[in-house]
Amino acid sequence: MRIFDPHIHMTSRTTDDYERMAAAGVRALVEPAFWLGQPRTNTGSFTDYFDALIGWEPFRASQYGIAHHCTIALNPKEANDPRCREVLALLPRYLDKDRVVAVGETGYDSMTPEEDEVFAAHLELAREHGLPALVHTPHRDKVVGTRRSLDVVKESGIDPGLVVLDHLNEPTVAEVAGSGCWMGFSIYPDTKMSPDRMVAILREYGLERMLVNSAADWGKSDPLLTLRTGEAMLAAGFSDDDVDRVLWRNPVAFYGQSGRLDLDEADTAATFAGNSILRGGS
Ligand SMILES: [Zn+2]
Repeated sequence: MRIFDPHIHMTSRTTDDYERMAAAGVRALVEPAFWLGQPRTNTGSFTDYFDALIGWEPFRASQYGIAHHCTIALNPKEANDPRCREVLALLPRYLDKDRVVAVGETGYDSMTPEEDEVFAAHLELAREHGLPALVHTPHRDKVVGTRRSLDVVKESGIDPGLVVLDHLNEPTVAEVAGSGCWMGFSIYPDTKMSPDRMVAILREYGLERMLVNSAADWGKSDPLLTLRTGEAMLAAGFSDDDVDRVLWRNPVAFYGQSGRLDLDEADTAATFAGNSILRGGS
C-alpha cells in the first residue's frame, strides 16, 4: 500500500514517527502551517516556522524516503491576534517557493469578523498564486462553520476543485459533496472520525474528491491511521485499486494542481522497498 498523507503536522512528531510511517508505506505528505499551541507574539516566530516547513522538515523526511511538501498561511486561531496580522504581508514570498503546494490552513476557528477577513484574504492569495486552498472547518459549531466556509469559497470566485474542506464528518459531508470542493477527513484514535466510520462514508459518497489524513500533531493522534483506514477499506470489500485511489492518487491529483509536487523521492523509496521485498524472498 502506498500512502500520501495530505495533512499531518510533522513539526510536533519525532523522527521515530517518520521511521514508522515509512515502514507503513507513507511515501509523501503535506504539512500545513498551523497554530503551535503557545501564542506567537511577533512575525519573526512565523518566518522561522515557515522556514522550518520548507527546510528542516523536508530534510528530516528525506532521510526516510518521504517526499515532504507544505501549505502556508496565517492559521484561523491566530488570525484573531492583532500582533500576528502582519504575517499576511509575508505570505506571498512563501507562496512562491517550490515545495509549497497550497494556501492553508485557513478557514474558521471561532467564526469572528477577523477570521472572515483573513479567510477571504487567503482565498484571494490562492487565486493570485494559482494554488489550491486547504480550509480547516471548526471543531465547535461544525455544521454552521462548514456552511459558512462554503459561502466564503463561493463568494471568492475560486474554482471549487481547488479547495478542500477538511476535518469533515457525517453531518457535514453531504453539503461539501454537492459543492464541487474536495472533502478531507482526519482520522483520530478516540474521537471525531474512526477508520470504520470513514469506510461507511466512502461507501455512501464514493471515492471521488475524497482525501483521508491522520492530521497528527502533538495531541492524541496517530500517524498510521491512514494505513488503518486502508486496511479497514480492504476488510470491507474495497479493492487494492480503490485504496490506492483514496490514499495515493486523490492527494496527488489535488495537490498536483499546484504544479509543484515532487515525488522523485517517493519513487526512489518505492524502488528500494521493491528491492528489499525481492531480497526478503530469496
Ligand atoms: Zn491541521
